[in-house]
Amino acid sequence: MGAGYASFLAGDSLTPKERGFASELADNPVSAETFGKIATTVFGYNAAFLVNSTGNLALPSDDETSHRFKWVRPLLQPLIHKLEGSTQHPLGQQIGFAKPGRVELMRLEGRPSIAGVVSVMSPSTAAPAGNNLYLLAIRFLDGAALDTLSREQGLAGARYARSADQGADEVAFQINATATGEPLGFIIWKPDLPGSRVLGRLAPVLSGAGLVIAGLFFALMARLRGSLKELSESEHHAKHLSVHDVLTGLPNRSRFADRFGKCLAAMKSEDESAAVALIDLDRFKHVNDTYGHATGDELLRAAVARMGSVITSADTLARVGGDEFALLLPSIKKGGDQHVALCNNIVERLRSPFQLRGGDLVIRIGASIGISVFDDHTHTENEVLRRADVALYEAKTAGRGRVIVYNSSLDRRLEARETLKSELRTLLERGQHFPAPLSEAQVSDVGHLEVFFQGVYRADRECGLSGAEALVRWRHPTLGLLSPDKFIPIAEEAGIIDQLGEWVLCNAAKAAATWPADLSLAVNVSPSQIRTWDFDIRILSILEEVGLSPSRLELELTEAALFNIDETGLAALMRLRSRGVQIALDDFGTGYSSLSHLIQFNIDRIKIDRSFVKLLGTKAEGAAIISAILGLSRTLGKATTAEGVETENQRDFLVAAGCTDLQGFLLSKPEPLHTFLSTIDQRNDPSRHGKSRM
Ligand code: C2E
Ligand code: CA
Ligand code: CA
Repeated sequence: MGAGYASFLAGDSLTPKERGFASELADNPVSAETFGKIATTVFGYNAAFLVNSTGNLALPSDDETSHRFKWVRPLLQPLIHKLEGSTQHPLGQQIGFAKPGRVELMRLEGRPSIAGVVSVMSPSTAAPAGNNLYLLAIRFLDGAALDTLSREQGLAGARYARSADQGADEVAFQINATATGEPLGFIIWKPDLPGSRVLGRLAPVLSGAGLVIAGLFFALMARLRGSLKELSESEHHAKHLSVHDVLTGLPNRSRFADRFGKCLAAMKSEDESAAVALIDLDRFKHVNDTYGHATGDELLRAAVARMGSVITSADTLARVGGDEFALLLPSIKKGGDQHVALCNNIVERLRSPFQLRGGDLVIRIGASIGISVFDDHTHTENEVLRRADVALYEAKTAGRGRVIVYNSSLDRRLEARETLKSELRTLLERGQHFPAPLSEAQVSDVGHLEVFFQGVYRADRECGLSGAEALVRWRHPTLGLLSPDKFIPIAEEAGIIDQLGEWVLCNAAKAAATWPADLSLAVNVSPSQIRTWDFDIRILSILEEVGLSPSRLELELTEAALFNIDETGLAALMRLRSRGVQIALDDFGTGYSSLSHLIQFNIDRIKIDRSFVKLLGTKAEGAAIISAILGLSRTLGKATTAEGVETENQRDFLVAAGCTDLQGFLLSKPEPLHTFLSTIDQRNDPSRHGKSRM
């Protein structure tokens, strides 16, 4: 035994176990065989050799040891060379090795193994080069080593496998030979997540177990750490995904609920307030449907960026639905209105146009926001959210693009709407027929629907009656005569607009069938009606039933309805058109007013919205806009109806500008059928138009 070996044995940085081993070696003349036995029994190596700088066994050895060493020597010797080439291996430094050491993963005797080499020369008493002793130790990574790992390190059921045949609840990490990169197989275990706990448990092995065994484990640990890092990264990633929205990177509903719950629980003082705002993008669906999902996604991200720019890091903005967001403002001043200002700011920012597809597409959307302010424990999470939802609903029904803060009167409005909804349902279920008079019992609790008719007049000097638009009314027992704006949105929301629409068509067509044959009937159609697959068949069968020629019917569709139409709906409309039914574009000027759409769709008539007509006589551009629309319509061969004609000046301008038809209070208001019938009777008396009806 050389001096180096002695100094290794005397080394004071050894653990008690190692010192015991060392003193045993010192006391007894030791053979390679004994050394190997001690190494394997005390340290649990599968094999250990004491080797000199020339790469030969430093101790006398039996045949078996020599034979074994002969086989592993070519593989282990590069380790010694590498070790000699470096004074202190970074690995050793990292784990606090007193002496240089080197550890590699390799295949030995056909098994995945960790092989380690440490110089048994204390660095302080370094022997001259080439006169050193090395402890080479091998630990197979299958079998017992993994049992130990499994038991001590919390790698539940760790096992070695040639291929990654892990079960659903297991993880596998591949081990490759350090020097060659040759795949050695997989270590598979049941993860005890989070991964950091495993790492935490692995760490003590470094101080507790023997120096070299620590080194050996270190390699495994380094791999483990690497894969646990990967694992925890993927876990982190998975966790991130589970609480974040992939598209926008915002927290999702579950993360929001978590933050919200914490915020609610943390509120202590009476002076603290917080708010939840629910944000709904207006017209997002239209963009998504019209321009495709990629554009929709781009728009969402851009909208999120704008919202993000006005909130602070303490606030939580989460995506809780397709185009719905929730904003938690955990700290607002009691009685202040900074939260309202912030939300108004968001609405403002979302209102300005978005440049998408690299500037090729300019889109305008908007946002509606409902806010719920809460300030103590008396409100549950559900209640706070419910209130924000009620406020949002109000913001949407009040015309969108606005911020509404919850107050208890909103609950009553909501309740009233719900009542109307169920009453309307009852009404439509009764399937009452107009104009058959209703019995007392029928009128009873929910009242009845009625179709009013507003005359449409030719825009010429005579202003003769050309037809009428059917406008539904609800005679309500307590609320009086309800205009459609009060219940059409409710019917749409309740999913009964199709029945309502059919009811109106049926009753209006029945009435129109009795009018002189030169009078047409215009009926409003909701977007959802066109989506019904047998839309055209139903309409044609109603017309047939009541005996109204299809050519006397005009269907009025808004721009939104027309441009959201799918292939099936379009085909149905075209079939109706081929049977003589006319299609009118309602409220032109209020929606997207896209001229290309006008050309694209085969419509017969454009109804100029009354907001344009209103401009006539008040703003100079009013006349210019209307002249332009009329000029375009003429060029395209479309008829035009100006809506909301209220003054003679408006009428005169429209007649002179070449509008086809006029409709408005100046000429006649919507009226019940019997009144309209008398209008028909007097229609050849031009003296009444524009005067008596004002
Ligand atoms: P609309 O289709 O634009 O109908 C014209 C509306 O303008 C009617 O309101 C009418 O009363 C009003 N109006 C007519 N002339 C004038 C005028 O000179 N000045 C002003 N200020 N207003 C005028 P109404 O009857 O309250 O209907 C409101 C909306 O309800 C209609 O707008 C239509 O979109 C919808 N609607 C009515 N009936 C039905 C229906 O049976 N089905 C569907 N889906 N919607 C309907
Ligand atoms: Ca209309
Ligand atoms: Ca209209």
